[in-house]
Amino acid sequence: MLKKLAVLTSGGDAPGMNAAIRAVVRIAASRKVEVLGVKRGFRGLLHNEMVHLGVRDVGNIIQLGGTILRSSRCKEFFEREHRRRAAQVLNEREIGGLIIIGGDGSFRGAKEFSEDWNGRLVGIPGTIDNDIYGSDFTIGFHTAVDTALDAIDKVRDTADAHDRYFFIEVMGRHSGWIGLYAGIAGGAQETLIPEETQTVEEAYQRLLEGKKRGRKSSIMVMSEGCSGDGAVAIAKRFEEQTGNDCRAVVLGHIQRGGRPVASDRVLATQLGAYATELIIDGSSGIFVGNHKGALCHYPFEHSWEKKKPVDEYLLKLQEALAG
Ligand code: ADP
Repeated sequence: MLKKLAVLTSGGDAPGMNAAIRAVVRIAASRKVEVLGVKRGFRGLLHNEMVHLGVRDVGNIIQLGGTILRSSRCKEFFEREHRRRAAQVLNEREIGGLIIIGGDGSFRGAKEFSEDWNGRLVGIPGTIDNDIYGSDFTIGFHTAVDTALDAIDKVRDTADAHDRYFFIEVMGRHSGWIGLYAGIAGGAQETLIPEETQTVEEAYQRLLEGKKRGRKSSIMVMSEGCSGDGAVAIAKRFEEQTGNDCRAVVLGHIQRGGRPVASDRVLATQLGAYATELIIDGSSGIFVGNHKGALCHYPFEHSWEKKKPVDEYLLKLQEALAG
């Protein structure tokens, strides 16, 4: 019987992680299982940095961005000798299960760790990129899109006032989900995301066609990963080639922060609770997700062996709707 479990947040932080921690602690308490919060991801395991988390300790955190446990990228965890030390720390504290809230990198770490530790391991997808195969959405994605959208709406006002072309770079090195959703919701004329075959030159052409149709200003939303150049260089090139007034906006890390929107809090609560029920009931080596409205789970390796495609229909719609 599982008496004690630990929870940590690892890799890139995402709004809604706190809501997941809260659900883990409170569901575990309802099953009479004690919870320890590990500080700074896998690093906290190596340094034995843990705090007891009771029901009251996770009060008033559901609305907070970031993670109360803090996060880290921990190089030592790639090495077996350090993972063995982490296993020893967990065993000395008589912890029987570990819940990892993070992205596919953290799930890889968890999978490696399963070779070194006998306890149960369950993951919860917390990443703004929405790039975890098997789960329709990941914790933090909707908040990141809303943050990008807020900026796009503001840029649109000034683009319109000055007949300018704006190139807005959003996060997503390998995944265009934020770009696609922010582009659709922001009514962008063009989106450029890593999954598309469209080149920068083709996007330029389409912007110019829009101008011929009478568009005075335009917004192109692009993922950071879709061109090595980045929005600043792309805007400069377009200005040089066409003589149009161009500006670039790179949104960067503000997309990671902020209070989580309702859908991220609800998703985090569902996934946090589900992961806790599963680990207490004996599951291990899996991460949880949601698919078509239902809760589901998959082996850790799905998260890096399978690439989650972007929504093709939305991509087509974006192109069809550009005015
Ligand atoms: P994310 O979880 O957001 O994808 P990272 O890819 O940075 O973030 O991974 C977070 C941490 O997971 C790493 O800093 C490292 O400690 C651990 N990790 C990732 N891959 C491995 C691996 N192959 N072996 C051991 N630990 C790993």
